[in-house]
Amino acid sequence: MKHIRNFCIIAHIDHGKSTLADRLLDYTGSVTEREKQDQLLDNMDLERERGITIKSHAIQMEYVHNGESYILNLIDTPGHVDFSYEVSRSIAACEGALLIVDAAQSIQAQTISNLYLALENDLEIIPVLNKIDLPSANPEEVTDDIVDLLGCDPEEVIPASGKTGLGVDKILEAIIERIPPPKGNPDEPLQAMIFDSVYNPFRGIEVIFRVVNGEITKGQKIKFMATGKEYYADEIGTLKLTQLPKNVIKTGDVGYLISGIKEAKEVKVGDTITDAKTPTKNMIAGFENVKPMVFAGIYPVDTEDYEELRTSMEKLQLNDASLVFTPESSAALGFGFRCGFLGMLHMEIIQERLEREFDMTVITTVPNVSYLAYTKKEPDTPIVVNNPSDLPDPSKLDRVEEPYIKATIITKSDFVGPVMSLCIDKRGQITNQTYLTPERVELSFDIPLAEIVFDFYDRLKTVSKGYASFDYSPIGLRASKLVKVDILLNNQSVDALSALIHADNAYNIGKKMCEKLKELIPRQQFDIPIQAAIGAKIISRETIKALRKDVTAKCYGGDISRKRKLLEKQKKGKKRMRQVGNVEIPQQAFMAVLKLN
Ligand code: GDP
Ligand code: MG
Repeated sequence: MKHIRNFCIIAHIDHGKSTLADRLLDYTGSVTEREKQDQLLDNMDLERERGITIKSHAIQMEYVHNGESYILNLIDTPGHVDFSYEVSRSIAACEGALLIVDAAQSIQAQTISNLYLALENDLEIIPVLNKIDLPSANPEEVTDDIVDLLGCDPEEVIPASGKTGLGVDKILEAIIERIPPPKGNPDEPLQAMIFDSVYNPFRGIEVIFRVVNGEITKGQKIKFMATGKEYYADEIGTLKLTQLPKNVIKTGDVGYLISGIKEAKEVKVGDTITDAKTPTKNMIAGFENVKPMVFAGIYPVDTEDYEELRTSMEKLQLNDASLVFTPESSAALGFGFRCGFLGMLHMEIIQERLEREFDMTVITTVPNVSYLAYTKKEPDTPIVVNNPSDLPDPSKLDRVEEPYIKATIITKSDFVGPVMSLCIDKRGQITNQTYLTPERVELSFDIPLAEIVFDFYDRLKTVSKGYASFDYSPIGLRASKLVKVDILLNNQSVDALSALIHADNAYNIGKKMCEKLKELIPRQQFDIPIQAAIGAKIISRETIKALRKDVTAKCYGGDISRKRKLLEKQKKGKKRMRQVGNVEIPQQAFMAVLKLN
């Protein structure tokens, strides 16, 4: 145990966590020449393509320091604000953290929020000044910023470059010397914390855990405390680049477990594993519950795929404990699921993973946050509104409350004006403004969550020319004026297109939605009226004019194979479309409300 170190890497997005992790693996000889490729730990295709880390990953390295051999368990974490849940779980499994700060960008919003998470968990922080090879690096200034933030000595900050490998030796030394070994008692009954799980179609569910007390041996009969289920530890091992089976995983170490678990819901991230015969009395506390921020419907394009979609989502949920879903039905789309996501990026990723990993074609509906509504009849009983159709009729509605967040934005002083007007435009109220340095300002706002989950992040980037970083935390519910804007296509209300909108913006947004839908819905053989309505009142109207010619008409009598090709092309284009009544609605139309600016 004296020779184990569990640590994670935390940083603002793009400050170089994954790259530095690669260098640590190289330096400790944890990867062979053949296995080498960039951003080794980002092994989901999607992660590589987008250049972001979505899942946390654990990997074990061995390193000899002063003649003694150490086991280093590295947990790489994602940096995007949507995935802070993954970060908090990883942090709970560690004693120390490398805090990476980009020497050109300095401290950003998530540097601070992740640091707070680490400090709450009593982690030893090793500050790393990364990317010092960059011509635009400001090593002295940024070191000062770090010293101010942590209250540490300048000598504790390790200059490094994930690109050239500079400083990697110093980082490994610091991990061994500054991070304490795991505590824990080997003689106590087994107590291990599940901090991740992966679905493997061939081997069932793989559970990733950290042993807190006692040890786990191959073949041992174990129990998952939250579910009460018992299993045999058929295979246990450590996580190298591939899995390495072992006979025992000792106190303080990190490992994987395979025990023939097939059902996704049997494994709960945050649960405690113990010995079935002599169980521990204490479950491990301290896991934050995931709170979805954004809700949307996910429906199969083909209604027959509903059951398959359910199975796919269950498997995905196992790998991503932050996804929640319940069955729902829509008059327009049939059976599907109301899903809760951490944010819009998370929602996109789930949709893409369903398509890539499970071969499902799905439609996601207009997203919204979760509101509380009260009726005049029962003004003390809140109704949770996760779906526009759950909002009580305006005539019966007493009041609505919406979630607010405290937003923290760090930007350059030049952009304070534009950032402020954006926040005010989004119904925000400024609560604090602090100059961190003469050039860098921290702004705090109270702002409705609904205004920031959709396009806020993109707009912030635009108004600040990329020099703003952003983080948020919930601060509870406040009164709101909310209405449901319905959309009628061809005089038929399409429930999946309804959106919950602040009353002051409803007319404006209703009008823009009609215009946008007119652009997005393909023309058909007949005129399609598009109307926006609040209750029975039509607030806007557009018309999609009928197509003048049948696309296949000109092929009549001509080459039959050409006609078939055309039809096939149309079919392909149809992939992400749903037929509602006699109108075909493409996926983008369901997101139209988000793209109105
Ligand atoms: P993460 O989001 O924190 O995991 O960041 P990545 O490791 O994915 O790195 C973000 C970008 O910065 C990538 O384009 C890397 O190639 C680049 N990068 C990372 N470390 C360094 C470094 O030390 N020097 C330079 N010049 N670029 C780096
Ligand atoms: Mg990364």
